[in-house]
Amino acid sequence: EKDLNNFLTAISLSSPTGPFGICSVDVSTGDLRATVVTSKEEMHDEIWRLSPAELVVPSNLDDFEATLRAAHPNLLVNTQKDDAPLGDTKTLVADDALPEILDQALGLLRSQLASMRMTALEHVRPLVRYHAGNHLVLDATTLRNLEIFRTTDGHTGKGTLFHLVQRAKSGPGARALRSWMRRPLKDIAKIESRQEAIAHLLDLPDIQLGIRDELSQMRDIERIVSRCVSGAAHPKDLAALRDSLEVLPRIKVLLSADGPPWIERLKGRLDTLEDIHKVLQQALVENPPVQMHDGGIINEGFEPEVAELRALRTEGSQWFLDYEAQQRERSGIPSLKVRFNKVFGYYIEVTRTHLAKVPEDYIRKQTIANGERYFTPELKEMEAKILNATGRLIQLEQEIFAALRSRIAGQALRIQHTAVAVATLDAITALADLASESGYVKPKVHDGHELVLIDSRHPTLELLMPPGEFVPNDIKLGGEHGHLMLITGPNMAGKSTVMRQVALTSILAQMGAWIPAGEAHIGLVDRVFTRVGASDSITTGRSTFMVEMVETSEILAHATDRSLILLDEIGRGTATFDGLSIAWAVAEDLHDRVGGRTMFATHYHELCDLSQSKEGVRNAHIAIREWEGKIIFLRRLKAGPMRRSYGIEVGNLAGLPQSVVSRAREVLDGLECDGPQVDKTATIPMVAPPSPQMDLFSGPPADPRWERVLEVLEGAKPDSMTPKDALLLLYDLRELL
Ligand code: ADP
Ligand code: MG
Repeated sequence: EKDLNNFLTAISLSSPTGPFGICSVDVSTGDLRATVVTSKEEMHDEIWRLSPAELVVPSNLDDFEATLRAAHPNLLVNTQKDDAPLGDTKTLVADDALPEILDQALGLLRSQLASMRMTALEHVRPLVRYHAGNHLVLDATTLRNLEIFRTTDGHTGKGTLFHLVQRAKSGPGARALRSWMRRPLKDIAKIESRQEAIAHLLDLPDIQLGIRDELSQMRDIERIVSRCVSGAAHPKDLAALRDSLEVLPRIKVLLSADGPPWIERLKGRLDTLEDIHKVLQQALVENPPVQMHDGGIINEGFEPEVAELRALRTEGSQWFLDYEAQQRERSGIPSLKVRFNKVFGYYIEVTRTHLAKVPEDYIRKQTIANGERYFTPELKEMEAKILNATGRLIQLEQEIFAALRSRIAGQALRIQHTAVAVATLDAITALADLASESGYVKPKVHDGHELVLIDSRHPTLELLMPPGEFVPNDIKLGGEHGHLMLITGPNMAGKSTVMRQVALTSILAQMGAWIPAGEAHIGLVDRVFTRVGASDSITTGRSTFMVEMVETSEILAHATDRSLILLDEIGRGTATFDGLSIAWAVAEDLHDRVGGRTMFATHYHELCDLSQSKEGVRNAHIAIREWEGKIIFLRRLKAGPMRRSYGIEVGNLAGLPQSVVSRAREVLDGLECDGPQVDKTATIPMVAPPSPQMDLFSGPPADPRWERVLEVLEGAKPDSMTPKDALLLLYDLRELL
């Protein structure tokens, strides 16, 4: 796909637990980049984000190789061959000295490329170092859960955030956007400078339109240059390069209005490459063929010999026409023809009825169904001349073309630098287009912990609905608004939607994009964590519940007070009391120890009591209205808990038979009489009497078994647990019941 990078990635390591050097090259675009990560998890996440076509790792590290294969089953993992050549050290270079570990990774790349005989690398740009930690981290689970690049059923395209944002006109522009989305920024100044650039373009709609118009003529010049370097570029490629370069001066003119620093910097980096364009313009015909073997590539004016040979060919055709007329006259055969084919060359064809009139000096060559073919010495002589000229012409054109191609290859880096600038411009105008077309606003990004979204919409869902149907919401989280929001409400109310909406909005904001809301203040997020919905990982053979626990323990281990954490229905995959206990303990740990902004959707309304003992916990619910035994979804996020789950009403709405619905009501009434007392009617904030000692359940005296469960949970250290420990803990908990 044109918007995907095609990375070969090498990983070096100082010890099995890290740090790891990760170095990637995309030979098709000339992109070379490297980073060092300290932990295994970061390494796996980074591999996931890069999605390389192939990995290379040092040999003789069987365990390491096996881990990689297990963690990335769809990836081709190669080891460095012991006798692999080192590779050309003139290519794949860094501007400054690299730490040992990256040097090793770069070496792995070189030798892998050499063993694949990929040596044409002059277009590869000097290595760019990046820090995964300088970016908002989106791990594999989160990318999947939030449908950033793929929908949950695995499709790219409609419904994904990337599809919404991908309005770039060129392949390099689309790749730039993709990498901005994989690595949103964490630096306010950088975010603001992209925002300013967007604002500038929105202020000057004619310029924005003009630039996009010019950009639509741009072809994938990164890839064309790389094909010039490897010698694979064909005549149409160079014509596409010529047509792409043609727009550069016009783009520079469009950018000449006094712009913000971001635009000025870009303008400074935009070499308009007029010299290269001029050569291509002079050398190539307007519309060259893809293939080289028939010629027709080079302009006559570019090389006198091409003009001469072409003239000779034209004269030749005229000579044959004249010769035909002359022979008709001489022989008195009006249907006599001078023809050409690839096997016999030029010949004279006479039909059967006229054979008697054939002159004596004609030499017979071939008999055909309705006549004979002949040649003459004059005809052969001229034929040789013409064929020579044509052969020479094709050869000459090929030589000139090859020289032109290497001349371009010699300028590869210059072209690549411009390509990067243009790709960046393409990406920013795409974001401006998104902002203006979708009625987005510029969010205020700050380094506090508060996130306030007014009239916020879900960027992709709103488009899947008829206009105006999506109900905007106000969301306040973090700081004085409390950092843990517990969202209750029946199934289908919109809990998952509002949580995803917050995460997607934060990601857009930190890409520097504008966002779907009336107003927004967003405290920087360092990482988004999600545990959304039930997902069975069949390929790794883990149960839903196990997956849920693994993901939850990863969140507890890595989240910080800057993280945005979405927990959707945790504890659902197991028995009610296990699930509730775990949800409770996780919520407490997030609140007390982690402190990150957390949205916690749950059908355990018992959890709402947490707000009475935990200062940072706020209850919220998605409002519904009951009407004649049915419920109407209002889609409004409101403060306060909802103490009923309305499961039966949702079932009713979904078309369960009436008999089943009424029987369910009877059973529920029975259960509720015996079970813990809860207020079943309140949909408005319920003020419970303050109780000094919060228990899991108010009401009946505490069961001594619960004491033990709580004790075990209190003693548990989820952040230092392996997934297996978590599972064992669960078994222990169940034993206690
Ligand atoms: P829950 O997680 O509470 O079960 P979802 O978030 O999955 O509910 O939402 C269920 C459906 O409700 C969504 O697929 C969408 O069609 C609709 N919906 C959710 N939020 C809104 C909204 N703000 N405006 C309009 N429709 C919404
Ligand atoms: Mg949901």
